[in-house]
Amino acid sequence: MAGQSAYKIATLGSHSALQILKGAKDEGFRTIVVVTPDRISLYSRFKFIDKIIQIPDFSDFPKIENQLISENTIIIPHGSFVAYLGLEENKNMRVPYFGNKAVLDWESDRMKQRDWLQKAKVPVPKRFRSGQEIDVPVMVKSYGAAGGHGYFFAKNKKEFAARIKNFKPKEYIIQEYVIGVPLYIHYFYSPLTHKLEILSIDKRYETNVDSLGRIPSQNQQGLGIEPSFVVVGNSPLALRESLLAEAFKMGERVVATSKELIKGGLWGPFCLETIITPQQKFSVIEISCRIVAGTNLFITGSPYSALYYDKEVSTGRRIAMEIKEAIKTKKLNRILN
Ligand code: AMP
Ligand code: AMP
Repeated sequence: MAGQSAYKIATLGSHSALQILKGAKDEGFRTIVVVTPDRISLYSRFKFIDKIIQIPDFSDFPKIENQLISENTIIIPHGSFVAYLGLEENKNMRVPYFGNKAVLDWESDRMKQRDWLQKAKVPVPKRFRSGQEIDVPVMVKSYGAAGGHGYFFAKNKKEFAARIKNFKPKEYIIQEYVIGVPLYIHYFYSPLTHKLEILSIDKRYETNVDSLGRIPSQNQQGLGIEPSFVVVGNSPLALRESLLAEAFKMGERVVATSKELIKGGLWGPFCLETIITPQQKFSVIEISCRIVAGTNLFITGSPYSALYYDKEVSTGRRIAMEIKEAIKTKKLNRILN
């Protein structure tokens, strides 16, 4: 098997590409970004990107696959892959892909995802099978909703009935609305060492839900403001240390259960999207089985990754470290798909 210099690391120019490619370069890889014309000016600014491959639209990705394969490229998926290429195109990708594609079906189907989390004994919000059952405020989520789009909030059964009439998606889930702090835990599971790390934690800033408190409720009355959950950015958060043990255990149970449910199991970066209630209990609203955008805060490392490494390790860099180790120990097949 070839040494590290034979491989290049590539990703699509979007989401967390800068972090991924900076991390790859820091670990000694040559790097490629695949971009649409409007983004060339951004990605050409950075010297850790060795090559820019332009495509007219992200959906043209299959046309450059042969080129990537001939250059011995490893592709790192991120949040834009399913969003811009679609689930099937992701699964059909022929370029060696970091991560387990079998996980994609479990992640994209909200019921399968819930089943996985419940089997892992991870607390999830209560689910209502029909509007009739609703007895607490709820959040209605379409399948495949991303970045906070495709959701609505309903205070009670009556509000739900009124709103669902205008909700276009046919597949959705009705979930208890959990009041607390949204906290996103960024994990990395190494299939080479079988160890789980928490690399960083973020909290999202969502509009307008996170800014509603700027207008006191008595002044909001009559304005007809509806909460929306569109993410605009992320901020770092250090968790109360006493909650960290549970955060590790939840992640470990999710990984262990994935090995029972999914051929090959989950590996690499993933994120548990949680809400912590005033009783200091986690409620897990979603799992993302790849690098999430909140890790972009930690390109120079985080208070958690510093506990394992004496260098600045982001999730992007951690991926490159895993690939480097797999090349060295001739286990690349174990981590690619
Ligand atoms: P973009 O690169 O902004 O076009 O985003 C690509 C995908 O990632 C979209 O599905 C976004 O909704 C999602 N996304 C981008 N930034 C974030 C973020 N900071 N947090 C969560 N999701 C994000
Ligand atoms: P998601 O796309 O699942 O990450 O959700 C987007 C945002 O909606 C989250 O960051 C939360 O602010 C909010 N959210 C989603 N599910 C719930 C829930 N069950 N209870 C309260 N807020 C939620």
